[in-house]
Amino acid sequence: MKSLKDMGKDELTQLKAELEKSFEDAKGKGLKLDMSRGKPSVSQLDMVMDIMDTLNSSSKLLTEGGVDCRNYGVLDGIPEAKKLMADIMEVSPDQVIVNGNASLNIMYDTVARSMTHGVLGSTPWAKLDKVKFLCPVPGYDRHFAITELFGIEMINVPMTVNGPDMDMVEELVTKDESIKGIWCVPKYSNPQGITYSDETVKRFARLKPAAKDFRIFWDNAYAIHHLYDNDQATLLDIIGECEKAGNPDMVYEFASTSKVSFAGSGISAVAASKANLDYIRKFMTIQTIGHDKINQLRHVRYFKDINGVMAHMKRHADIMRPKFEAVIKVLENELGGLEIGSWLAPKGGYFISFEAMNGCAKDIIAKCKEAGIVMTNAGATYPYGKDPFDSNIRIAPSFPTPDEMQQAAVLFTLCVKLVSVNKLLK
Ligand code: PLP
Repeated sequence: MKSLKDMGKDELTQLKAELEKSFEDAKGKGLKLDMSRGKPSVSQLDMVMDIMDTLNSSSKLLTEGGVDCRNYGVLDGIPEAKKLMADIMEVSPDQVIVNGNASLNIMYDTVARSMTHGVLGSTPWAKLDKVKFLCPVPGYDRHFAITELFGIEMINVPMTVNGPDMDMVEELVTKDESIKGIWCVPKYSNPQGITYSDETVKRFARLKPAAKDFRIFWDNAYAIHHLYDNDQATLLDIIGECEKAGNPDMVYEFASTSKVSFAGSGISAVAASKANLDYIRKFMTIQTIGHDKINQLRHVRYFKDINGVMAHMKRHADIMRPKFEAVIKVLENELGGLEIGSWLAPKGGYFISFEAMNGCAKDIIAKCKEAGIVMTNAGATYPYGKDPFDSNIRIAPSFPTPDEMQQAAVLFTLCVKLVSVNKLLK
């Protein structure tokens, strides 16, 4: 297809008229489609319903070591749940603490604890004049919401196909002691679906931060969320790499089964060095007598081991893959060669990230809304909800059916074309 940028004014004006007509026709259909929700579809949740039958009133609710899961005790997770979460994160069970249902909760607590009590004996961040975090962009809005809530200044770091721009990360953390952390989604990132290269992980591990209490927040939320059997991303073990590089305490890794079992009732975990885990446990003892061990047991009895989890994830992939492929196909067919947008075709995760022409994202999303498609707000993938280029749009293909997704994607590309033509005519 001819690039819109090579079209003259008359050609663009004619195209605009055609697109406006198609848009009015589409609007007339009164569609209601949602591409904003990064949550499992009902069929994915239905697929795992029998997890509810793994335990019942006749079940023996004892761990392998004989602990009664109905009672108090076991602060940091039953051993078999630690093993399961360790295998998902590709670390060892003694590097893991199992928590409640949400890894976001652990991330929030980790920032909150650093604010009030510091990191392994450092000055509490709340007592410092300035605390800053690096935020690879586009990124996950709920990460940014946590640091914003605590008044932590966020600095955008652009993503590349290999992960965050490491030249920038190295330079900033080396020279600025007020930079205390970085948010990372290292595998099938939200929203681009990028996996950090081995070189990127090694450069992270070798960082020499000015702040001794600098921490990498390694949110491995999509560790096992592959779309393809024969084309799976691999990620180096950051904890092991940090240890090798002489920085054993520099990272916290997070994960959960939110998009494996039930999004609202999974189990979550944090992995880190012994020093970090001991410090976390010190605070956990005050916070709780223990998390929901029955749910931990339910997960272990249902999945059995990592092989059970991986087999289950293949069934998720069978549901997710057609939706991702439907969107990518529409983007290629409708926008290929027009030079008004770019995207990557993720091999896993939950999102597709679309880069519109600068200054177009808000208008595209508004047009989509007019036509009955709900998209994630423009700017949501940037700290403070401010995309400096007004160009990034996050597409969440998981919730609608493949057919709805296809229709929504066609309408989306129509809105992209219309807004881009208007922009070029200005
Ligand atoms: N981390 C990332 C990168 C996510 O995309 C999400 C959910 O979309 C979460 C964490 C939420 O995880 P949890 O349900 O374990 O709190």
